[in-house]
Amino acid sequence: GVVVGKRVKSRRKWKRVMGVLRELEEGCETTVGRLRQVVDAMAVEMHAGLASEGGSKLKMLLTYVDNLPSGVSGIGIDIKFFAFELSIYTMSSVRLTFDIVMNEKGTYYALDLGGTNFRVLRVQLGGQRSSILDKDVERQTIPQHLMTGTSEDLFDFIASSLQQFVEKEGNGSTPSFVRRELGFTFSFPVKQSSVSSGLLLKWTKGFAIEDMVGKEVCECLQQALIRKGLDMRVAALVNDTVGTLALGHYHDVDTVAAVIIGTGTNACYLERTDAIIKCQGLLTSSGGMVVNMEWGNFWSSHLPRTSYDIDLDANSPNPNDQGFEKMISGMYLGDIVRRVVLRMSQESDIFGPASPRLSMPFILRTPLMAEMHEDDSPELTEVARILKDVLEISDVPLKVRKLIVRICDVVTRRAARLAAAGIVGILKKIGRDGSGGITSGRSRSDIKMRRTVVAIEGGLYTSYTMFREYLHEALTEILGEDIAQHVILKVTEDGSGTGAALLVTKFLHRKSLCKV
Ligand code: BGC
Ligand code: MG
Repeated sequence: GVVVGKRVKSRRKWKRVMGVLRELEEGCETTVGRLRQVVDAMAVEMHAGLASEGGSKLKMLLTYVDNLPSGVSGIGIDIKFFAFELSIYTMSSVRLTFDIVMNEKGTYYALDLGGTNFRVLRVQLGGQRSSILDKDVERQTIPQHLMTGTSEDLFDFIASSLQQFVEKEGNGSTPSFVRRELGFTFSFPVKQSSVSSGLLLKWTKGFAIEDMVGKEVCECLQQALIRKGLDMRVAALVNDTVGTLALGHYHDVDTVAAVIIGTGTNACYLERTDAIIKCQGLLTSSGGMVVNMEWGNFWSSHLPRTSYDIDLDANSPNPNDQGFEKMISGMYLGDIVRRVVLRMSQESDIFGPASPRLSMPFILRTPLMAEMHEDDSPELTEVARILKDVLEISDVPLKVRKLIVRICDVVTRRAARLAAAGIVGILKKIGRDGSGGITSGRSRSDIKMRRTVVAIEGGLYTSYTMFREYLHEALTEILGEDIAQHVILKVTEDGSGTGAALLVTKFLHRKSLCKV
């Protein structure tokens, strides 16, 4: 009687756990049909964000980058017309700008502040096509307390690292009388007023330095540099997506957009200035400008949302914000998995006695989740190890370890497929999804599709194989083979930092020469 009773109990327990799993799977469903709805919603929101300030949760921020590095050598003069707001109608205020394109030659510095890491770079450029001669990178983890302290503390830390980096190079490459020019990659939403200035709109990714919101970002850095006695000038302020697009374009001129899927997620792309309705009369010689979408804040009722997402959002430092990011990026995926496991452990005792670790937010980091997901040992020994070391859950049977892998799979697959839908949304907006110009009688395959490159960076894409594969699979499903074969995702290593250095060279020599 006892044995039978135990078996019945155990069967009931599994039934409950399977119920939780099934509910998760249903909640995370991303059929192609649903993904296409997300694609359409993304394109619609892009239009709305470009039409008016605050017209969408997508901020569609101007970057003032109207010209991307191409690595083509030679010196040229580029004439640009700049006219903002209403000035196009009053010719007197149209400014004529000369751009001396000294193509990307010299030594430049870049700071990259964004996710978990902070990097200092020195990039040496030759005038030849695509010749980054030398690159020096130093990485540091940002101490947790600086992410939630004061802006002065954060920028003093950054300036110190830069100082050490510069001192180490000795009297080498840069003569002391030459002022060093700096590109600053700052991966948060910034309302730019020029290519080298802008106000912080809000923090994301766990940063919360209240005194800095609304402040001029470059000014904070510049003041810290002065405090350290560093003679450097911040010549470009760029989002990491924009740096990535710059480097991507430098290597391949078919690059039209850039996507980051790391701690946070975002995308930028090259837009026609006449499509940026909210900035009437914006004229550039290229006829285009890079727009920082801040797609992490995208929202649509078509997004598959679960109770775990709702709880995660409510308990985050930025509730009701960055909804897309919270379903996709590295800061959050591990925590979604933790929440599902916690729920299962409340429904049953399959994870043994309740572990207090399971209730600790962000204890299961996404790289560890990826390791569990990709554990291909027959006994799932990595899963067992991580459960024990991180969550203090030991001795779970193979069946339960398999369940963990399944949860990771559901969460990552949804993330990757949503990211794919986001990318196709951009392609649709710029007419590169193959749907443009379909007239009756013509099949999709008749349409000539231009080679389209999307630069991509971030740990989820570069280091998480399953994520990458699910993303590619979804791209092909949404676009169809014929179109998808023309869309190339290209990893640009260190793009956010190196790209910023490249952009410094682009805009360093831009001088407003006369007013017409
Ligand atoms: C920020 C973006 C950034 C992205 C990737 C997001 O949280 O808002 O500005 O590009 O993370 O780093
Ligand atoms: Mg980064």
